Amino acid sequence: MGLKAKAMMDAGALVPDEVVVGIVRERLQKDDCVNGFILDGFPRTVAQADALQSNLADLGKSINMVISLEVDNEAVVERISGRRTCPDCGRMYHVQFDPPESADTCGECGSALIQRDDDREATVRKRLDVYAQQTAPLVEYYNNAGLLKSIDGMQAIQTVQAEILQALGC
Ligand SMILES: [Zn+2]
Repeated sequence: MGLKAKAMMDAGALVPDEVVVGIVRERLQKDDCVNGFILDGFPRTVAQADALQSNLADLGKSINMVISLEVDNEAVVERISGRRTCPDCGRMYHVQFDPPESADTCGECGSALIQRDDDREATVRKRLDVYAQQTAPLVEYYNNAGLLKSIDGMQAIQTVQAEILQALGC
């Protein structure tokens, strides 16, 4: 499934929902998912959520909770477009919140930091538009299913973490 998806992405095509859901289904059947799992950034559309639901039912699994981190669009843009990544060791920085000691240089390995194409402001704004059109309807979808827990993602990192853990009963 993954190879199939990669071939499509390499060809510049969108990966159809059944392939994406197939990849998730395969992954959820591994041993480390026996006691539970967390999906991050998936599903992204109502069609994917429907397909996920029927696949989980097939596998005798279900979703217990959906956490929605609520963050203002401008804060999302600031957080993502300020990211800098080390292409060699993978360490991430943020120009404002976690800057490297010397500008544009990785403190771990000395390589020049880059901004990933995905993190450029124009790309982030496009992704927010796609989110509003395709993914935001899932808030109502999971709220109607009684599974939604909204958390104010504008709070301090430690507060957000504490509220997530509390919601999960940890
Ligand atoms: Zn590095």
